[in-house]
Amino acid sequence: MIKTRLLSASALALAIAAPAFADDTRTVWRVFIGDHDAPKITAFDLGDPDTRWSFDTKGQAKLYPVADGTTVVAVQSDDDQVNFVRSGVNLFSHGDHSDISVKEPAAFDQSLTGPRPFHVVAHGGSTAIEYDKGGYAEFLSNDGLQNGTLDVIKFPQARAHHGFVAEFGDVVLSTVASDAPVEGDAAPARVGLQAFDRDGTPVSDLATCTGIHGEAFSGAYLAAGCKEGVLTVREGENGPDFNLLPYPADLPEGTTGTILGAQSMQVFLGNYGANGLVVIDPQDEPHFKYVELPFRRVDFTLDPAKPQFAYVLTEDGTLHRLNILSGKIDTSERVTAPYSMDGHWNDPRPRLAVAGSEVLVTDPAESVLRVIASDTLTETRSIPVEGVPYNLIAVGGTGLEH
Ligand code: ZN
Ligand code: ZN
Repeated sequence: MIKTRLLSASALALAIAAPAFADDTRTVWRVFIGDHDAPKITAFDLGDPDTRWSFDTKGQAKLYPVADGTTVVAVQSDDDQVNFVRSGVNLFSHGDHSDISVKEPAAFDQSLTGPRPFHVVAHGGSTAIEYDKGGYAEFLSNDGLQNGTLDVIKFPQARAHHGFVAEFGDVVLSTVASDAPVEGDAAPARVGLQAFDRDGTPVSDLATCTGIHGEAFSGAYLAAGCKEGVLTVREGENGPDFNLLPYPADLPEGTTGTILGAQSMQVFLGNYGANGLVVIDPQDEPHFKYVELPFRRVDFTLDPAKPQFAYVLTEDGTLHRLNILSGKIDTSERVTAPYSMDGHWNDPRPRLAVAGSEVLVTDPAESVLRVIASDTLTETRSIPVEGVPYNLIAVGGTGLEH
């Protein structure tokens, strides 16, 4: 870890002279940005972006906040490695208020290696990492992660595939691959989702979900995209209850394969085709609300604090705010130059995150992080980020220091 600015003498003098006031309210949003080309993660606080931390990885990293935002998982699929960073920002809820503790971020001593780590699912008390070419997943306890250690429990699968695994009450849900032979090193087709014991013994029938991809949790449900519709799962009296919601006939041709789940409202938002989104209500009809976008979609994200809103960036460089309840876009503003969706899926294009009342947009071509007010969608400032800023997450919030 490299810290690039020392505490100034005046700040130090102030810290010594003035003891912290009791019950100080503090807001911290800490951003972690993975570079598209260089094996590194850059971190800084939005309130003090000149103080930087840098973490080395082996390759390009996709970032996930887990264990209540205390831990950043950096998955390097093309380099068979997973690194972990303590975010340094801990929020503890006391029911009527939250305490915040802010320390410097720090890399874990340990990392994980394995054949093509990919999807990460944080649910229940653990975080699961699927190894697409290994035929297994690894569960990490969130208690361990919060203490900076990796307590790894391996979960075996019948056949390696690009899938996911999740803790679900007393059982483990895992995607299942077809056992049909494949040509060369092609990945086997995914056929559905099934419940297992911790040792990999099936405890339910296979729920068909052809090509299953894109898992998320919201309320009582897990949802995942399939060729036929969206598979939902909730805990029933005798184990998990699987229910496939078919795509309605009036939707255009398409499927969903990337789904986000709202935290404070039971609703999902999925991609649909190249220039659509679909709002998914897992419980009540209509289960699907289709939203057509004016251009192809680059990235989309939910607003954790204002759950009725989602933000989506289209390839013309316009950021849209979608009202999930009405299924209508209420504001659109240009925030970057155009980024065509033609070309490779992993070409450097912007990615979105939400930090409090601001939407963060990486702009890889300009080497900046754009900070956008979520109410007006206008840029409040841009923060230079060396290299090609790409995947990002933001952790933090507001708490009391006392
Ligand atoms: Zn407190
Ligand atoms: Zn995937």
